[in-house]
Amino acid sequence: MAPTYFDHNATTPISPRVREAMWSWLGVPANASSRHQFGRAASRALEQAREQVAAAVGAHPTQVIFTSGGTEADNLAIQGVCGGMEPSRLVVSAIEHPAVMRPAQALQRQGWQLASVEVESNGQVSRTRLKETLRKPTALVSVMLANNETGVLQPIPELAETARSHGALFHTDAVQALGRIKVDFAALGVHAMSISAHKIGGPQGCGALIVDKRLDLRPLLYGGGQEKGRRSGTENIAAIVGFGVACESLKTAPLMTEALRDVLEAGLRQRNAVIFGARAPRLPNTSFFAFPGIDGETLVMALDRAGYAVASGSACSSDSSDPSHVLLAMGVSPELAQGAVRVSLGPENTLQEVEGFLQALDSVLSNLRQMAAIAA
Ligand code: PLP
Repeated sequence: MAPTYFDHNATTPISPRVREAMWSWLGVPANASSRHQFGRAASRALEQAREQVAAAVGAHPTQVIFTSGGTEADNLAIQGVCGGMEPSRLVVSAIEHPAVMRPAQALQRQGWQLASVEVESNGQVSRTRLKETLRKPTALVSVMLANNETGVLQPIPELAETARSHGALFHTDAVQALGRIKVDFAALGVHAMSISAHKIGGPQGCGALIVDKRLDLRPLLYGGGQEKGRRSGTENIAAIVGFGVACESLKTAPLMTEALRDVLEAGLRQRNAVIFGARAPRLPNTSFFAFPGIDGETLVMALDRAGYAVASGSACSSDSSDPSHVLLAMGVSPELAQGAVRVSLGPENTLQEVEGFLQALDSVLSNLRQMAAIAA
């Protein structure tokens, strides 16, 4: 039987529509800067994709800067906003993805003061906490819209408002939110927002930073001046076209509901799992949980053998076996955090698959407990 894919927060399968659209661009010479007809066709495709991406997030096409993915978009936001300023203060939440954390830490090594805003035990950053962390002058605040591990959503409009009232710019990483909840750049009230194609049925290696028109951004990459000088490098037309089509498809695809996730979590609770972030608003597709006394990595490998692809901690840093920094920030004990496993569902998953998973879990857990008893 084909394995069941339950790891959509790591990446999603490329949809057939996207594949078809990309395919037609793979065999042609497509440099959007060329003046001849091939170049002009590529340029038109690039601008059409820009419109599709902008429309998916309620922005104007001129606000879209294509990048090599969410990681580059995050780096461009953090380093690009701060790079042109005198070092002052930078605030990021304690649960950010490394694509935000690491560039912020790099700025710290260059003389910036880096402050971390803590989260409550439900995984959310409160306005009060942010206010306590903000001091004047703070150049930039970055808080993600949806966490990749817990799926917990942050109250971005109110946090962005708080940052603005302290004279700070605001960036949000919306990589996990796009396609799973409604994402509207203007309504969020932020100055910059990162998104990534491969989380919504598009290709890997393609993303965008959506920016406020007045934002002064120093490029990370200098060269031929593509993307209005904000991101040089010949555009990957096939990938960008795929991203555009994936965004366009969001218009007709209904957003996933919590229904399947709720069935899964009811089953997990019956089996005495602890579910992280369950008291906060969350992405409808994500469940992050642990069985006390069972190691997360071991459980993931056993589930893989049983035919279910799930993740332990964050797949983006899965070479590390440290307990999740997100769970530690929520006050979860390192022992329990070591057991964390993430199921992230996609629109193609079915109730039968979730029920099958719960059944498989029973035998996997019983085997692991037997083995632990023998080893003790
Ligand atoms: N930000 C978040 C919240 C993510 O979950 C990820 C990847 O999983 C990224 C950024 C990085 O995006 P990309 O894989 O497109 O570089």
